[in-house]
This record gives sequence, C-alpha cells and structure tokens, in this order.
Amino acid sequence: MLDIQDIKALCNENKIAFTQHFMYRIETRGIIISDIRLAITNGEIIEQYPNEVGKRLQNKKGGKTMTCFYCKGTAESSTTKHFADLDTCVVIIKSVPCHKCTQCGEVIYDVTVGERIEQIVSNLKNSLTEIAVIQYSNVAA
Ligand SMILES: [Zn+2]
Repeated sequence: MLDIQDIKALCNENKIAFTQHFMYRIETRGIIISDIRLAITNGEIIEQYPNEVGKRLQNKKGGKTMTCFYCKGTAESSTTKHFADLDTCVVIIKSVPCHKCTQCGEVIYDVTVGERIEQIVSNLKNSLTEIAVIQYSNVAA
C-alpha cells in the first residue's frame, strides 16, 4: 500500500497521470496542475482504496502501455485532440501525446503533457483569435 511519502515521490518524479476528462473538469473550475502538486506536497491521506490504487499503478516499465483508470483495459501510446473553451477563444490542440484505452477509449495524459496543455491554453487566454488550432508538436518545448 502506498503512503503519502510514496505519492509525494511519484509526484516529484512526474509519475502521475490525468484523464482527459479530469483535465476538462479542472479547467472549468480554474484549478491548475501546480495546485494539485501543492496539495499532494502538503497533503495527507484521508481515505484510501488499496485494491483500486494497486490496479491503477500497473503502468508497465518503459511507458508504452498503461492500465486504464476506468475499465482496467490496456491504454497504449497514442495521440488525441484537446479542446479548451475560453471566454473569447476556442482552442483545439492537435496531436497531443497520450495513452488511449483500447477497450473504452479513455484518454490519459502524463503530467508533463497536462502542464504543457495548460501553458498553451494560458498563452491564448487574451488572444483576439476566436478559434485557435494548434499542433502540439509545434509548440511543445
Ligand atoms: Zn478503459
């Protein structure tokens, strides 16, 4: 079973991942990934589901495949489109690296990809463009 120190270490090593759905939810609530990092760094475990956590952490070495958070199917390396609806601008980021579940289609981002998406979207917040279509690889550092 993981303790909070294990979780903090995984967070510091960027070994955390988010579903695309989660990214959409935090975007609409104005939460950013650094808030989540801060919560983990200063947090404590208030409830734990050991069987679920064990299954979700079956990320195979090498990062080619991952176990889906929802259906426990295999999520393989892939790309997807990410949408962000800002007040003034709709952003479409194409060819975003992800893991995609071969069983249910769930999309999972590595934390570094999630943070890059936030950065891209943030840079367009004051844009005068109504629709921005961006190729992830052209803007990724
Ligand atoms: Zn799945």
